[in-house]
Amino acid sequence: DQGEPSLLSVRGLTKLFGTFSACDGIDLDIAPGEIHALLGENGAGKSTLVKMLFGVLQPSAGQIFWQGKPVSISSPGQARNLGIGMVFQHFSLFEALTVGENIALSLDPKISLSKISQEAAALSHAYGLPLDPNMHVADLSVGERQRIEIVRALLQNPKLIILDEPTSVLTPQEAERLFETLFKLKAEGRSVLYISHRLDEVRQICDRATVLRHGKVTGACDPKQETPASLARMMVGSDVAAV
Ligand code: ADP
Ligand code: MG
Repeated sequence: DQGEPSLLSVRGLTKLFGTFSACDGIDLDIAPGEIHALLGENGAGKSTLVKMLFGVLQPSAGQIFWQGKPVSISSPGQARNLGIGMVFQHFSLFEALTVGENIALSLDPKISLSKISQEAAALSHAYGLPLDPNMHVADLSVGERQRIEIVRALLQNPKLIILDEPTSVLTPQEAERLFETLFKLKAEGRSVLYISHRLDEVRQICDRATVLRHGKVTGACDPKQETPASLARMMVGSDVAAV
């Protein structure tokens, strides 16, 4: 393959839980500046795969390559240092603390809270993710809480940002706003790994899609060139009568 070098590649990535393969020999390539969908039904292995990419889980077999070099990602801190940011499906925020305090907790303790709050406010403004650093998390909607996680990831200036089913907690208006943010990240040359089981939004916003079923890749395509039926077939197999 003489094309543009990948930002991130995985070859044969496998995760066993006991004898069960949640991910089974997965190959994946993410180019710089693309919005790449990881598409699959519940239980397909999407979250397990990205937890390996973010150092939350260790692979049972296979190899991760970052900018062409083999890497082992043993912790989220190591993933962040490489340039990988992650927005989890389930947030880890302290309700009693403010937005700024929550963000400060994940950063170098030598940086002052006022500086962090200032930077977070600037980033949230620049990326269309309105957020008041002085608000308490307990008073925020789930969509606003997700913005904290995104801004927290952006503060580390990631080359790749992974979002695990981000729209599952958003209103349609909030989802449209998020898509604008993702387009801005793409325009800056960053890559996005966008996990979803929703065909419509993947076809709307993603440049490439890797489809998972039962822990295996069943297709890699440009989702805009596919029909909903052809994508559904990759997701659920040949019995698409119900789709
Ligand atoms: P998805 O994110 O695509 O919905 P997951 O990666 O969460 O799928 O899960 C894939 C499969 O692995 C599911 O069958 C799930 O029950 C199983 N699984 C996930 N995490 C664990 C775990 N820690 N222990 C055992 N099985 C797990
Ligand atoms: Mg999941």
